[in-house]
Amino acid sequence: MSEETQSHRPPIARVLVVMAHPDDAEFSCGGVVKQLTSQGATVVYVVLTGGDKGNHDPSVTVPNLVERRMQEQRAAAAILGVGEVHFLGEEDGFLQPTRDLRKRLVRIIRQFRPDVVICQNPENYFWGDSYINHPDHRNAGVATLEAIFPAAGNLMFFPDLLAEGLEPHSIRELWLSMVDDPNHEIDITDLLDIKIAALRQHVSQFDDLDEMEKWVRERWAKAGPEHELRYYESFKRLWFD
Ligand SMILES: [Zn+2]
Repeated sequence: MSEETQSHRPPIARVLVVMAHPDDAEFSCGGVVKQLTSQGATVVYVVLTGGDKGNHDPSVTVPNLVERRMQEQRAAAAILGVGEVHFLGEEDGFLQPTRDLRKRLVRIIRQFRPDVVICQNPENYFWGDSYINHPDHRNAGVATLEAIFPAAGNLMFFPDLLAEGLEPHSIRELWLSMVDDPNHEIDITDLLDIKIAALRQHVSQFDDLDEMEKWVRERWAKAGPEHELRYYESFKRLWFD
C-alpha cells in the first residue's frame, strides 16, 4: 500500500496489544503506544501469562510475584495512557496456543473491536546473534494470530459467543514486533524518555534500573538522516482493508 493511499485511511481509534509477559509491551512498543494514546486512540493490553518465572529470589512466592508484576504492569500501562489491562493468567514458560486461549482472545477482540492488533512475531526463534527468543513470545504470536484469523471474524467459530451478542470482528491491521524484516519503523526519539519511565515501573525485573536504561538507550539507538542519534520501534505491518 502506498503512503498516499494510507494517508486517506481513517485514523486508528482502537488498538489491542497482546503480549506474553508483563514488560513485553513496554520493550516492544512502549513509544508507539504512547504516540497512539496521545493521538486519541484507545489502547488495551492483554498480558497472557502472570510472569511467574521472572524471579531469582527463592523467598518470593508465586502469588506474591504475580500480584507484584500485575501492579507493575498497570503502572507502566498508565504512564503510556493505557487504562485497561487484561491478565489472562496462563503459566509463564508454558504458554500454548490452546483452543481455550483462542476463545478467550476472540472474546476480547469481539468485545473491544480493535482496528489494529500489535503482537509478537510467531516465527522468531533467534534475535540477533546472541539471543534465543523466549518460547512464550512465539506462542503468544501464534495464539493471537489464530484468534484474529479466522476465528474472530467468522461467526461459525464459538457460536456461544455469538449467542452472547459478540458479533464477528475483523481487524484492519496487524503489527508484529520482534521481526527481522520490518516494513514499518516509527521514530520514537521524542518518546524514549516516557518509554523508559514505563519500563522502570517493572522494578522486580531489573537488578539495576540505571543499567537497564543504559541498555535500552544503546539497543534502540540508530543514526538518523543527519547522523544524529534517533530511536525507532519496528514492526512488520499487514493491512487487510
Ligand atoms: Zn517476555
